[in-house]
Amino acid sequence: MSTEEQNSFRDKVSTIDDQGKRVWIFPKKPKGSFYKARTWVSFVLLAILLGTPFLKINGRPFLLLNIIERKFIIFGVGFWPQDFHLFVLATLALVIFVVLFTVIFGRLFCGWACPQTIYMEMVFRKIEYWIDGDARQQKILREAPWTGNKIFKRVLKHSIFFGFSFFLGNILLSYFIGIDQLTEIITSPPSTHLTGFIIMLLVSSVIYWIYAFFREQICTMVCPYGRLQGVLLDQKSIVVHYDFIRGEPRGKAAKENPAKGDCIDCNQCVEVCPTGIDIRNGTQLECINCTACIDACNEVMVKVKKPKGLIRYASYDSIARGIKHGFTPRMVFYSVFLSLILVVLTFLLFTRAPLEAVVLRTPGVLFQEPEPGIVSNLYNIKVINKTYEKKEINLRLTGKDGKIEVIGGAIHVVEGGMTETAFFIKLPKSALHLVNTPLRIDIFDETDKKIDQIHTSFIGPDPRLK
Ligand code: SF4
Ligand code: SF4
Repeated sequence: MSTEEQNSFRDKVSTIDDQGKRVWIFPKKPKGSFYKARTWVSFVLLAILLGTPFLKINGRPFLLLNIIERKFIIFGVGFWPQDFHLFVLATLALVIFVVLFTVIFGRLFCGWACPQTIYMEMVFRKIEYWIDGDARQQKILREAPWTGNKIFKRVLKHSIFFGFSFFLGNILLSYFIGIDQLTEIITSPPSTHLTGFIIMLLVSSVIYWIYAFFREQICTMVCPYGRLQGVLLDQKSIVVHYDFIRGEPRGKAAKENPAKGDCIDCNQCVEVCPTGIDIRNGTQLECINCTACIDACNEVMVKVKKPKGLIRYASYDSIARGIKHGFTPRMVFYSVFLSLILVVLTFLLFTRAPLEAVVLRTPGVLFQEPEPGIVSNLYNIKVINKTYEKKEINLRLTGKDGKIEVIGGAIHVVEGGMTETAFFIKLPKSALHLVNTPLRIDIFDETDKKIDQIHTSFIGPDPRLK
């Protein structure tokens, strides 16, 4: 076979044929130590994914990403749009962490922790094996005429698929609106929130379509993380790898011909692959590092009395050149960069002000002279309380002789909420030497602890016209 022919698999996606039609994958049910370990990990992750919206700390959600009301709670701590810089830094840290992790461990996340893989392989695929049987029975059933048995199996499978998708859609929604609001919605009749109900049906239908039909195409064609593998992986990255030094030349007559490698060309590694690829062709974008081929090959190796690990977690360099895994300059650079961002982020998180205020002169209102020799300006104040305790705040003018009069008395700020009010600043005319006088307002809490300071300006009559 010419090199071009050997590499022809790179010209096409394993799930699309030459006519552009979908090639349906019937992966054999995996079994083995890696699959067992992944199953246990998936139980934990499923508990986290499905249980997190129900978690509460002191009556507040553990995690809430309410984009519409711009209210975010992460690990029980409230964040506001004013904390956007923290969000940007945290996102940057996450991206660099993902890059660093991928450079070292390849797509380990995809195979073990990605929600798409967890739901597909550990929920929907298991339901399919339970109803339709293993790969061979699935193929037979697909080709079979529409008998009562086939209709029953199809209806049963797709009803369960849609039911679970609807459940997933609701769980997904609860991350954004909170479990209390979701409970309120689902316990009231659909007619009271028809639009929301229709949206939920649409979301559930998309989830159902992904797991019932689109499946591995998400990982091979849609997922941006999958697309990035081409630039993130290098020959030192640890991925699921076929040991071509040990395995080649492959062939069935390995026993009789000692010149043959350990691969007996049984195709078991291909038959279990959920993305339909042959790992012996080398690292490919379609490989989600699910380890099914490792288990399949290990079982074969035990049967032919060869050491396990013909397919294993390894880097290309360790297989081709025997180079041990080590820290490369690229990894050092990402690690240092990530550490710096984490230090800055930690500092900002620990020094985050519990209250934040925005003061603006009330638009469209000029200065007033409420009594002779006194000039007043009207201001609007918006105070965000990032804590979960009620706060009362006081405003004090610093560096100027004047007073602040809050409309309605003291400013009370509700816990985890925002309060808006207005106040006057009154200054003696003698203190004004400019049309626009800069001012500083200090904000104190009820214990007289200074919590913020604000700079604003005060408009007065032109002092030259006195
Ligand atoms: S399962 Fe192992 S022995 Fe069989 S074809 Fe794959 S690599 Fe070769
Ligand atoms: S090649 Fe192996 S690890 Fe990669 S997706 Fe296929 S079965 Fe999973």
